[in-house]
Amino acid sequence: MSRSTSDGNSSNKILVMVADIAQYFYCPRKIYYLKVLGVPFRVRRKMELGNEEDEKEEVRLEERIAIYGFDRSSVKEIIHDLYLEDAKLGLAGQVDVVIRLDTGEYIPVDSKYTDQVEVQRNYRKQLVAYALLIEGAFHTKVRRGIIYFTKQKKPVVVPLLEEDKSSLQKDLESIRRILTGESIPRKVSESKCGYCEVARFCV
Ligand code: SF4
Repeated sequence: MSRSTSDGNSSNKILVMVADIAQYFYCPRKIYYLKVLGVPFRVRRKMELGNEEDEKEEVRLEERIAIYGFDRSSVKEIIHDLYLEDAKLGLAGQVDVVIRLDTGEYIPVDSKYTDQVEVQRNYRKQLVAYALLIEGAFHTKVRRGIIYFTKQKKPVVVPLLEEDKSSLQKDLESIRRILTGESIPRKVSESKCGYCEVARFCV
C-alpha cells in the first residue's frame, strides 16, 4: 500500500528516506559512504532474520487477542508495509505497520530484531519520521508510536512530542547537506565500527 502527499506546490527537496535517518543516527559518516559514494551494502544475517520474523509476525497478528498491547476490539485497522511520501517535507519511507484505533488515533509500529530491549535514539527518530508522514497523509496528529522487539515479542510505547517533530526537520536538512556532498561527516566512536557494514571502506 502506498500514499503520497503534496500541498500542490512543487518541491525540489532531495528526498530523504526514513532508513537514511536510521543510518545517520547510527553514524553520519555511514550515510555518506552508502548514498554519496555508493559503496556496496552487504545484508547481514541478523537483518535477514529480522525480515523473516517480520513476515511471521504479520501472520501471528491475525490470531492475537492483543495487538501490540491494545485489545483487539479497540483496533479498527491494521495496515502492513505502508509506503508514504511527502514532497513538502522531502521525506519518504515504508512503515512496518500502522494501527488505527477506534478513537481514530493512528500509531506507527516499527519492528526491531535485536538482543537489547532498549529504545535507542535512531529508533525514536525513525518513529518521529513515520509520525510526520502519517500526519501528512491522514491529516491527523500522531502522539505515540511503538517499537516492537520481535525477538522478545515486546511492544514498547514511545511518546512523540511536537519538539521531536521540529527537531527532526532540522535533522533532515543536515542529512541533505551530506547527500549533496556539501559536508563529509565526522567519525563516531569506534565501538560502533565493529558492527558497521561499510567499515572496510572507512579509514
Ligand atoms: S566504520 Fe565507523 S566511522 Fe566509518 S561509517 Fe562505520 S560506524 Fe561510521
